[in-house]
Amino acid sequence: MYFTASEQPPSVVSLGVLVSDEKVESAGGLIVQLMPGASEAAIQSIEGSAGMFMDISGTMKEYHLDGAVPQLLMQLQPEILERRETKYACDCSRGRIERALITLGKEELSDMIATQHGAQVDCHFCNKRYSFSEEELKTLLAAATVQEGQ
Ligand SMILES: [Zn+2]
Repeated sequence: MYFTASEQPPSVVSLGVLVSDEKVESAGGLIVQLMPGASEAAIQSIEGSAGMFMDISGTMKEYHLDGAVPQLLMQLQPEILERRETKYACDCSRGRIERALITLGKEELSDMIATQHGAQVDCHFCNKRYSFSEEELKTLLAAATVQEGQ
């Protein structure tokens, strides 16, 4: 994949997950961006690794991260400047869910109050459950009413 419609420098993006027997065997992702003044040799070196970029999960499985970077960047003598632990974190919050409920609008909120007397909203990303009482929904309904200007 190449970024073409933005003002970003020429870039190569590769993401992949290798699944076997319903288990993740390897996964990886890489973004390579050309800095101003990148040499033709550097571009050719990256193009020479194109096949490995296409099969990033296979490359990660075979070489692991420490081996994959030199393999992918072959003659470029990559230098590792920083290592960070990756972690999964969701930035959902009660405030964000409240704003989402408000955008449903007056009609939808009124319906929730009348028929369910409250609401439970599950975050699609982290499965955290947010519960709203009828009273809380009425507060959100008031906010939605103000927003709709009626
Ligand atoms: Zn979440």
